[in-house]
Amino acid sequence: MEQRVDLIGLSETELVSFVESLGEPAYRGRQIFAALQHRRLRSFDEMTDLPKKLRARLKEVARASSLTVASRYLSADGTRRYLMKTHDGLPVETVFIPEEHRDTICFSSQSGCPLQCTFCLTAQLGLLRSLTPSEIVEQVLIALNDAYGTGVKPPRGTNLVGMGAGEPFLNFDSLLKALRIMADRNGLFIVPNRVTISTAGIVPRILDLAKLSDRPHLAISLAAPTDELRNELMPINKRWPLEHLLNACKIFEQSLKPGERFTFEYVMLAGVNDSEEHARQLANLLNRHGLKAKVNLIPHNPADPLPYQPSPEQTVARFKDVLEAKGIQVYVRRPRGRDIFAACGQLAARQERSVLSEVAT
Ligand code: SF4
Repeated sequence: MEQRVDLIGLSETELVSFVESLGEPAYRGRQIFAALQHRRLRSFDEMTDLPKKLRARLKEVARASSLTVASRYLSADGTRRYLMKTHDGLPVETVFIPEEHRDTICFSSQSGCPLQCTFCLTAQLGLLRSLTPSEIVEQVLIALNDAYGTGVKPPRGTNLVGMGAGEPFLNFDSLLKALRIMADRNGLFIVPNRVTISTAGIVPRILDLAKLSDRPHLAISLAAPTDELRNELMPINKRWPLEHLLNACKIFEQSLKPGERFTFEYVMLAGVNDSEEHARQLANLLNRHGLKAKVNLIPHNPADPLPYQPSPEQTVARFKDVLEAKGIQVYVRRPRGRDIFAACGQLAARQERSVLSEVAT
């Protein structure tokens, strides 16, 4: 069963080779690619334009879907949150956020996460495993089908953010492959310019991305302006401290082409990293490295087992003022889906016990 090929994770060219290996003509590969990626069909039975015999053969050797939706939550603000499961029973979380002019889908790159950010519930799962290209793409197919119906063209553009569970840059090759598949104009046609990937600061991959053309926008999660505090909040900082990280950011910033976006994310934790002194330290740090990137201030989504609260609005406003006075561009992100825990990693970890006990049975 596990030997079957996940067709959602194949490019059109790979699908053509795959069907040719079954003795089928090349056009069948293109037909199946369009069925999966454009018509968003998730079973061979629905592909009624394929001969029955071929559908039966495909079922033996391949899969048109490998994720199932275990739970789905709808927030009062229209945000939809999914807890999906892989074929081997591991949690995958995805969030669909409708906005006036576009929809944003936040996808996961790993089940669980090996990094130990102390403000994140997913960290408590540890790494269960990295997701395959197929599992990354299928999250987007499922969210679009749920919002609009199978294969229905979304009325607005779709943006993607790789800010769900996991560290995307620890699953770099699968991530890039999934993005290439989703960019195909015969499929979802979500081009890299509509995608933002957030990293906790995996320096070698930031440098790799600096050399790539056709790449997504990049966001770096900072969370602290000093090594002392960042070591505590994001222990990955011990591996790649701020000086090292920001040097890589400078190299990346110098590689930016018109239209590409590069931002810093700063989660605001009440009484932890949100003082005016922290804001001055952050501004000085970015200015010392000559970084022009905008800073997004992110409201923390409180979650029971975590010892953090979101910063009060006035504190966020003061933090913003200090940064702006020192020439930093700042944007305060609006909390979405707070009633369904739509922050990074919150759903899977909340459901950890039930999901993992099902894995065990
Ligand atoms: S914040 Fe992101 S990188 Fe950090 S533990 Fe959570 S999922 Fe992993």
